Amino acid sequence: MQQNALVFRVEQGKKDVACDVYLAAENRSIRVISRELIWAAPLFLIPHVFAAPRPEWLAAIMGADYAPWVVANLTLSEAPQTRAGQPLAWDNVLHDSPALGYVVATHQQLRYAPGPTVITWYRALHEESASRQRRLLQGREDWAREILADLAVPHPEIRELATRIDIHRHAHAMIRPLPGRLWGGARAACETGAGNIRFAHADVSGLSLFEEANYRGVLAAERTLARLGVSFASSL
Ligand SMILES: Cc1cc2nc3c(=O)[nH]c(=O)nc-3n(C[C@H](O)[C@H](O)[C@H](O)COP(=O)(O)OP(=O)(O)OC[C@H]3O[C@@H](n4cnc5c(N)ncnc54)[C@H](O)[C@@H]3O)c2cc1C
Repeated sequence: MQQNALVFRVEQGKKDVACDVYLAAENRSIRVISRELIWAAPLFLIPHVFAAPRPEWLAAIMGADYAPWVVANLTLSEAPQTRAGQPLAWDNVLHDSPALGYVVATHQQLRYAPGPTVITWYRALHEESASRQRRLLQGREDWAREILADLAVPHPEIRELATRIDIHRHAHAMIRPLPGRLWGGARAACETGAGNIRFAHADVSGLSLFEEANYRGVLAAERTLARLGVSFASSL
């Protein structure tokens, strides 16, 4: 597996597929030629990366819309106190907040020990497009103030607990399941792929869900193996 590698050009030929890949750690590019390609990155990249994208793929992508999200990881010196109501859960939804709430990122640690933890706060930018644009450009300090104010409602001690805040703005975070996108002909074009290319991203389903990502990945792998004449035990 090649990590820190960015595919910036894909050229589909009749017999093989050529991918130009930038290797960030080595600051150089290589060309990888393969018989088959499984594209597991988001579909909105196709017009930017594919040298000659098929018209039906472009038509499929044209109708797609993506929801931007802001995600913040807060490192805390200890877990926030729980007051009235339920104890701290894995997924904590805040009442009357524009954000989705937060998850406790250390919840899968086998043994619970009091001490430092990380919580992950999420907010979809559901504002109208002009104001959404402004919000995406909003600086880190403004976001940090807003996030701490949001979390301070259930956890007034949050500012004292937070030792670090990492904020990420994802402009194309999740594909929206718009009417006509889930069973339409547009989706079918990316569902099957063409020639020696298959698509495996959850975007193919039109739904941003882990289960869809898994399903698409398995399906693309099985179809590719079948094209290569490799037998496999179907898991679907
Ligand atoms: C804030 C947020 C919260 C979510 N919460 C949930 C949840 O609770 N439950 C749930 O089921 N789903 C959730 N999702 C959706 C879930 O994360 C996605 O559906 C899932 O990650 C899609 O998996 P994937 O493998 O198809 O693609 P991705 O996870 O998008 O992976 C694509 C990969 O391709 C890489 N890539 C992109 N471009 C290139 C390139 N040019 N060259 C090389 N590599 C490239 C990316 O770096 C990435 O690693 C959430 C999503 C977000 C943004």
